[in-house]
Amino acid sequence: MRYSLFDLHCDTAYRMLTERQPFAVNEFAVSAEKAKRIETYVQVMALWIDHRASDAEGWSLFWRMLENLRRDPSLSDGTAFLLKGLPPKPSEISLLLALEDARILENDLSRVDLLAEAGVRILTPMWSGETCMGGAHDTQSGLTDFGRLALRRAMERDMIPDISHASRRSAEEIFALAAESGSPVIASHSNAYAVCPVTRNLLDREVAMILASGGVIGLNFYVGFLKEDGKANCADLLPHIEHFLSLGAQHSLCLGGDMDGCDLPPDLQGVDAIPYLADILLAHNYPEDLVRAILFENARAFAERHLFPNA
Ligand SMILES: [Zn+2]
Repeated sequence: MRYSLFDLHCDTAYRMLTERQPFAVNEFAVSAEKAKRIETYVQVMALWIDHRASDAEGWSLFWRMLENLRRDPSLSDGTAFLLKGLPPKPSEISLLLALEDARILENDLSRVDLLAEAGVRILTPMWSGETCMGGAHDTQSGLTDFGRLALRRAMERDMIPDISHASRRSAEEIFALAAESGSPVIASHSNAYAVCPVTRNLLDREVAMILASGGVIGLNFYVGFLKEDGKANCADLLPHIEHFLSLGAQHSLCLGGDMDGCDLPPDLQGVDAIPYLADILLAHNYPEDLVRAILFENARAFAERHLFPNA
């Protein structure tokens, strides 16, 4: 059986730049070659700002990553392209841009507009620690004044706020800002805290807020967010899926595998293992409709509602 995939988060663009390997064939978890068994494939490419880079260096890293991605041969030979509307074509790989770690705005609101013009559609405001945006998951801090202004501007420019990596307090404030703006809130790559209690996973309360906002949740494949001891296989996604479904997320649950950004389970090493993940879900008596919803349809429907509403 062939499956379509709409994945909400990978860090492949960073690796393409820093390890100088192309999208077509590479040593990464995500490549055109590894996606051959996927029917229609949409991948959110997060432009991840290396935590070792200063905010100023990060701003230039963002543009270098973007330029490197745009110039990749796969984007000129028709293999892949930046998604501008729906529906995505089965013959091409569609990419959507996200920024992971908006500290590179450096208190400059006009940079939000530059990101919007560059095609960034998902904004993950923080990654770790305290920045000009506010507190990340490893802090108790909320948003800064600038973080609030930047998020408001980002939503005006049709970017979707992403609470993966936010502190609990920042997340609460992002929900409130998004409600004012009529924007959904997503968690592009986070799992269930009730199953694996780490700060990067979502509290039930946060799940409820995401669902109420019309947002989506991308399941993260990182072994340390699947199981506390980090000894996780593909099947360890199941308790997280079960938990999210018990909270009513059947139309909001998606994948956000964090591929090329983390240690993956030994049996889920890349996009070529997605059909295997589907088989595991089917073997656990998940209806095929639900499997297709998690792999693709829920994210596609979200994109139709909020990313390309006029398509
Ligand atoms: Zn991340």
